[in-house]
Amino acid sequence: MDICRIPTPAYVIDEKKMKENLEILRDTADQAGCKILLAQKAFSGFCEYPLIARYLAGATASSLHEAKLGHEEMGKENHIFSCAYRPEEIREIAEICDHIVVNSYSQLEKYGETIASLHPAGHTGIGLRINPECSTQTDHAIYDPCAPGSRFGVTSIRLKEAIRRNPEAWKYVEGIHFHTLCEQNSDDLETTLQAVEDKFGDILSQPQIRWLNMGGGHHITRPDYDRQRLIRLVRHMKETYRVEVYLEPGEAIALNAGYLVTEVMDQVENGITTLILDASAACHMPDVIEMPYRPPLRDSGEPDEKAFTYRLSSCTCLSGDIIGDYSFDHEVKEGERLYFEDMAIYSMVKNNTFNGIGLPSIWAMDESGDCRLIRRFGYEDFKNRLS
Ligand SMILES: *Cc1c(COP(=O)(O)O)cnc(C)c1O
Repeated sequence: MDICRIPTPAYVIDEKKMKENLEILRDTADQAGCKILLAQKAFSGFCEYPLIARYLAGATASSLHEAKLGHEEMGKENHIFSCAYRPEEIREIAEICDHIVVNSYSQLEKYGETIASLHPAGHTGIGLRINPECSTQTDHAIYDPCAPGSRFGVTSIRLKEAIRRNPEAWKYVEGIHFHTLCEQNSDDLETTLQAVEDKFGDILSQPQIRWLNMGGGHHITRPDYDRQRLIRLVRHMKETYRVEVYLEPGEAIALNAGYLVTEVMDQVENGITTLILDASAACHMPDVIEMPYRPPLRDSGEPDEKAFTYRLSSCTCLSGDIIGDYSFDHEVKEGERLYFEDMAIYSMVKNNTFNGIGLPSIWAMDESGDCRLIRRFGYEDFKNRLS
């Protein structure tokens, strides 16, 4: 079906764009000699996992549920990081995950032996997340894992103290993980790696450390991303420390590879004209309010840039459920369709049914532009979570 005819609201995954992203990622991994994983927290549209599996080394998870999804639907390397693991979940996690990254020395002491015993001899699969205490962005403070007081990762001083106190637990660690970037270029990775080498170079040099996972936030598929620098940095880390290098971007895999199609239901006049859409920022694109950011909208401009300016909002009762002010060349009418862009990432994975607003259906668009329905949602999906 043509995208102009599918019922709204609907998320549409653009497989052509996704393939282009995946080709860039595979080429980068080949040239750098590293492995790239899908961070499922950004995109878990598992109907596309067979496609993604043709290009990437596997998936990474933030929870048991994501780990199970990666295990069932991707079936390649399966990794996980969580701030803390539940005792009743750790065995299942260890059975389905190749790498398990812990966030603290106390989690290492608690689970090191159990995890190691469930993995092949000589490969514990255990990594420790470090905190290089190096903030490289100020635009999105809520996404800065290096901010003072951050709960993420062990700082170098505390790690050295902990190893001295309990050297036995340290023996289980075979990998180091850091994740400090968000939508950033490779110059910020270079700055971060400088801090990592300064603070943890002696740790990385230990023969027991076999791999280094450099987390996500690498905006590799953005046109201005400096891939050659990334490739150089990965090679440098591999050669200096004799480690296998992993990257686990989420955004980069599905960047600009999806749309949210919505229809104008009504217009309200009160000094400014508000278009009431059948899609909501609060329910269907929560990052617009959380991050916050302005989603790209096809054929639109900044307020007053084009002849007709409107405020775009929804049916929820939240006054602040406003997507933004946009302008158009023509007068927008009830029943008209709008296409929000870059809607594959952090959208479907974060949506909700606040106010009982329905969830958008999910469609996939193939390379010829033909859309097929992946899943539709209804009243039961709302009701089943509530009692
Ligand atoms: C969020 C996150 C990712 C993915 O980040 P993107 O910004 O989507 O690339 C990868 N690893 C960890 C540990 C994360 O928290």
